[in-house]
Amino acid sequence: MAQVQAISNDHKLIDGRAHAARMIEDLKLDVRDLDSKGWRPHLISVTVGEVDEVGLYVRNQRLNAEKAGIEFQERNFPASVTEAELLAAIESMNVDPRITGIIMQRPVPNHISVHALQEAVHPLKDVEGMHPSSIGKIVYQNLETGPCTALAAVELLKTTGLELAGLEVVMVGHSEIVGKPIAFLLMAEGATVTVCHHRTRNLAVHSRQADAVFVAAGKPNLITQEMIKPGAVVIDIGINQVDQPEGKSKVVGDVDFASCADVAGWITPVPGGVGPVTVAVLMRNAVIATQRQKTHYEVLLARSTKALQ
Ligand code: NAD
Repeated sequence: MAQVQAISNDHKLIDGRAHAARMIEDLKLDVRDLDSKGWRPHLISVTVGEVDEVGLYVRNQRLNAEKAGIEFQERNFPASVTEAELLAAIESMNVDPRITGIIMQRPVPNHISVHALQEAVHPLKDVEGMHPSSIGKIVYQNLETGPCTALAAVELLKTTGLELAGLEVVMVGHSEIVGKPIAFLLMAEGATVTVCHHRTRNLAVHSRQADAVFVAAGKPNLITQEMIKPGAVVIDIGINQVDQPEGKSKVVGDVDFASCADVAGWITPVPGGVGPVTVAVLMRNAVIATQRQKTHYEVLLARSTKALQ
């Protein structure tokens, strides 16, 4: 049975940075082991055109890859690249045995289909967990790899120690990359999941019932104190740049942190919550993808050796 009790004025901050640092530390051993067997994980980050915020994500990914001992390479294509050219370039990365993971950075220009790119990455090299077969695995309750942000958000819920089976969870947002995979991950853990979105008639009616509220809407201050049940877990996935009076801007989530922190049992900050764990999960997916490729080639070798006997 889920146990969520009111802990008013005693919210527990879920520290995503510390959790991510532990994950990267743990990965170092796996990377060293793979490297010693000739399988050092090697990520390639693909960007199209110049987008400022993408540059920030890529720098952060590189930094974490280097900490874990993962090789990280960048390939930038001009905004004028055609979809066919990009798909051909991805195919060349698929067949290059030195590359073990491909990250397709978003956004891409409108003339390129994100779905086409996600499908083009070979499932064994899909470290973002966005290939249809990776998404399908979540539906089939194979939860080891999957979309990074979704896995990160659920992993932070687990740090509370709450029993997930039977937990009443509300997911605000139903995007392919965040909301839907989170709903599937949580259902696989036995939670009772309600998915809300921009057409939901009365969001507060749902969110107030929940033991845990996940929010990924891209709307600052969408969730306020009166929408949260005392003692509930609040996992804020939103990343929004908002202008400040003095002309600067700052990053906030979708949750009005100050008011919700007063009633929540646990809450993630933005920045410093889901974001850093997302990058750490990407690195973990990169290690798992490399282990799978190693096994794949070992099986192929065993088969061809047997065929020759
Ligand atoms: P999206 O635009 O694809 O989807 C937004 C979702 O929010 C939709 O399902 C929509 O129906 C819902 N929504 C919008 N307004 C709503 C409202 N008023 N009430 C209820 N639901 C509403 O966005 P996304 O790609 O899922 O991203 C959502 C947020 O998460 C963004 O702020 C994004 O920057 C952030 N994000 C963070 C990470 C991370 O690593 N922390 C990763 C991906 C996205």
